[in-house]
Amino acid sequence: MARYTGPVCKLCRREGAKLYLKGSRCLGPKCSFDKRGYGPGQHGQQAQWRRRRDSDFAIQLRAKQRARRVYGVLERQFRRYYRKAVRERGLTGLALLQLLETRLDNVVYRLGYARSRAEARQLVSHGHFLLNGRRTNVPSARLNPGDEIAVRGGSRGRQFFQALGDDAEGRTVPTWLTRDVSNLTGKMETMPARQEIDEPVNEQLIVEFYSR
Ligand code: SF4
Repeated sequence: MARYTGPVCKLCRREGAKLYLKGSRCLGPKCSFDKRGYGPGQHGQQAQWRRRRDSDFAIQLRAKQRARRVYGVLERQFRRYYRKAVRERGLTGLALLQLLETRLDNVVYRLGYARSRAEARQLVSHGHFLLNGRRTNVPSARLNPGDEIAVRGGSRGRQFFQALGDDAEGRTVPTWLTRDVSNLTGKMETMPARQEIDEPVNEQLIVEFYSR
């Protein structure tokens, strides 16, 4: 599946918020957004851009783009998630967020076994993770309550994964997941509730964008 390969920090500056797309760099002094918190490009600093009033459409579009960028999903796949969310019972916005949160790469990131979603995606696609005991290299694979993931036996002994395990110790895990760092495993216990998804995403605006 295709992925965005362009400059990443530009995306934070475009959205006007830190999206934490680069792992540990986002927390250090090298963060571009901290140094240059204005929009990217030649006109990013111009007062006329900062003063402008966004239309409803622009606000909805930005909300959708922000969610796409946080989860690293391209437009076509994101639209597919939306269509799927419409068919689910209950609130469409919540269903959309749950579909994004229960992607395998996101769960690996949430468990602390990767420093960013991009890294999680790469580790999964290189076959380092097992889903319910089977090797899986599909970052978009969807997890359900009760599903278990683990770092593959052959990868577990590597220094890289040992260091990841040490890093993971310091990261809190959302309540819908459980983790055993000593064995580099994790389990999805329940579907995430809205209050457990702490991303700067406004799902209502995304629903409005696609319902136009
Ligand atoms: Fe965004 Fe991280 Fe780059 Fe900072 S370092 S601009 S938070 S991706």
